[in-house]
Amino acid sequence: MSHIKKAIALFSGGLDSILAVKLILEQNIEVIGVRFETPFIESYCDHYIEQYLGISLIKKDISNDFKKILYNPRHGYGKRENPCIDCRILMFRKAGELMEEEKALLIISGEVLGQRPMTQNKRMLQLISEESGYANKIIRPLSALLLPETDPEKDKIIDRLKLLDIQGRSRKRQIALAEQWGIKKYPTPAGGCKLTEPSFAKRLNELMGKITNMNYHKGDIDLLKVGRHFSLNKEFKLVVGRNENENQKIISLFQPQDYLLSSQYCKGPVSLLRRYTDLDDEVMEVETVLDLASRIVARYCDKGHSSDLVDIVIWSYDKTFHQTRYVQSFSDSIIQHYLI
Ligand code: SF4
Repeated sequence: MSHIKKAIALFSGGLDSILAVKLILEQNIEVIGVRFETPFIESYCDHYIEQYLGISLIKKDISNDFKKILYNPRHGYGKRENPCIDCRILMFRKAGELMEEEKALLIISGEVLGQRPMTQNKRMLQLISEESGYANKIIRPLSALLLPETDPEKDKIIDRLKLLDIQGRSRKRQIALAEQWGIKKYPTPAGGCKLTEPSFAKRLNELMGKITNMNYHKGDIDLLKVGRHFSLNKEFKLVVGRNENENQKIISLFQPQDYLLSSQYCKGPVSLLRRYTDLDDEVMEVETVLDLASRIVARYCDKGHSSDLVDIVIWSYDKTFHQTRYVQSFSDSIIQHYLI
């Protein structure tokens, strides 16, 4: 039987989670990091883990569970479309399951009391712990002295006196601690969740109006992260690349229900037209949509601000549809009407 004491660390990759892990490693406890993934969380560089902590990191995709809470969060949304309280409950619950699988004794996270108004006040930290089902096993090492004692502390698995009493939004103590431990470079605090960004939240909201029961795929979410977005009607959305990287990304997200649009003779973007329902449409309506989309795309071609006609080539995924239209670009005021 193994006598190694193990902890599971919710690892966001920011300085606070690095410091929380460090405090626990200092107590001769093995730490397994876990990073939860959803299409909304941006990936970051993992080399800090190797460089400063030398722990193993497990990545767990929680997209399906997350979809349910995004659709109907019991504790509501934050400022944007971010269901942070339910999200933290889900993450601690999943970390608890991992703790059991790994026969670990506790769960840690780098949360700091009072750092984030929605999820890190005393009442919310307690509620999140309780609703995860693992309240007595969750320790927040950076603020532990300000929070109720947990089982691993009572059982002397962890020396509570070596934990800290940091609170508030100032990062002075964390930065001092980082210097003391020779931690010089680290990712910026948390961030990385697209749901907290106003423009992304707006696009997501618009997408939700086009689909039922959060029936989105990862590609739909990835598409929200690139280009200019236009809502053409309740079924169709147009995404126009803003640079070569975005053009390439848009091409990589091309799917069977989509059309791609681009000009052959003018310098301009690659654009993707996506249809979100399977309703049988009148051919006329698709025609109208293709015309709308072509005239928007034409605006972003180098002849888009002149009165010249612009050629727009449109093709479907299986190439059974391939057409060139010569269109007059829309004016800025019309473009604004469709812009999300
Ligand atoms: S910001 Fe995003 S990842 Fe972080 S708790 Fe909120 S919803 Fe979850």
